[in-house]
Amino acid sequence: MTFSFFCIIIAHCFVGFSERYHSQEVLKVKSSKRLFNLPYDVFGELERLGEEVSQRDKEIINLGIGDPDIPTPRDIVEKLHSAARIPENQRYPTSKGMLKLRETIAKFYKRRFNVDVNPEEEVLVLIGTKEGITHLSLAILDPGDIAFIPDPCYPFYCSGVILANGVPYRVPLLRKNGFLPIISQIPEGVAKKAKIMFLNYPNNPTSASVELSFFKEVVSFAQKYNIVVCHENIYSDITFDGYKAPSLLQVEGARDIGIEFYSLSKTYSMAGFRIGFAIGNKKVISLMSKVKSHVDSGVFRAVQYAGIYALENASNNAVSHIYEKRRNLFVEGLNKLGLNIPKPRATFYLWIPIPDGKDSIKFAKMLLDKTGIIVAPGVGFGKYGEGYVRVSLTTDMESLQNALLRLRDVNLTEESK
Ligand SMILES: *Cc1c(COP(=O)(O)O)cnc(C)c1O
Repeated sequence: MTFSFFCIIIAHCFVGFSERYHSQEVLKVKSSKRLFNLPYDVFGELERLGEEVSQRDKEIINLGIGDPDIPTPRDIVEKLHSAARIPENQRYPTSKGMLKLRETIAKFYKRRFNVDVNPEEEVLVLIGTKEGITHLSLAILDPGDIAFIPDPCYPFYCSGVILANGVPYRVPLLRKNGFLPIISQIPEGVAKKAKIMFLNYPNNPTSASVELSFFKEVVSFAQKYNIVVCHENIYSDITFDGYKAPSLLQVEGARDIGIEFYSLSKTYSMAGFRIGFAIGNKKVISLMSKVKSHVDSGVFRAVQYAGIYALENASNNAVSHIYEKRRNLFVEGLNKLGLNIPKPRATFYLWIPIPDGKDSIKFAKMLLDKTGIIVAPGVGFGKYGEGYVRVSLTTDMESLQNALLRLRDVNLTEESK
């Protein structure tokens, strides 16, 4: 409840009372309470401000949203083309995905994580993991049920929980803890009322990563309190310096409580295709599948064939290599400007403390105004994200160089007066 309240405050800081409040003249309709309680999209607001600035003077460098700029590998696109021409693929797909794709996913998990799953019951194709997040909440939460949400986090965990009339409970991710939640500090009374715990490592937005021992602790906590763990494993194949990210499902017993979401959006630059999957506990898979069968009709079959092709053939080292070069350039550049940022070993994000540690929205607006650079204010990812901004390295080396040049004129290290 407090979280949704906080979200509403953020919303109102930005736009005053939004139009959602005004009932229209002709049609007397207003939003449902669920919809009204949704967090405001901080990032949309910045994009809009960005347009204003770009019209005024400068070309915008957008380091705000995490939308891969690297084109989808050509052969994957070719596969989409050829599959789209086949009339059978133009008909309704099934909401849970073709068995052939689910088998390919099972083989991919075996190869990548040495995890065995049954493709018939333990894999569900998603229209991107964002879809799965909300549908998981709808499948499992009753009104008032608690869902653990890391803070800061990808904003849509909160949205899904609110749409399901659940209650988000924030678990802080603090720098002093390496941006991991301290599971042992969760009050017993809260744990007993919780149904879901969302996690995501390598992490968006903090770029923190974990070892398998962390997931072991999560699994025993979830087993004790009968909580479904949903781990978003979206950045596990965007890693550097030899780091290999683990899967929650590698922990013994994880499948009794856990489910993992994987997306093709980031690893294969297929964000526009809308394809990902859920893998793990078969009861959870079947509940989500039931929701989906009432809500959507699945992924375009040609996209599923492109997904099969990507999982079987594409090499993800290619994108990791590109992001690694960008990371090196940008972190080294920032550190030359007086910052002291470690190089993250995964994701394409940098999580950067701001000079006065206070108002990340103000800082982001100042930065945009002075330099034409868009960054994501940390508070948009949750209360504990305040004091940081997130930089997304989803733009080319030249723009990053350019951004560094522009940043020379900004005081990045001292308290603002
Ligand atoms: C990008 C991202 C998503 C969205 O993935 P899609 O599969 O494109 O819906 C979900 N969660 C996190 C943490 C992300 O960073």
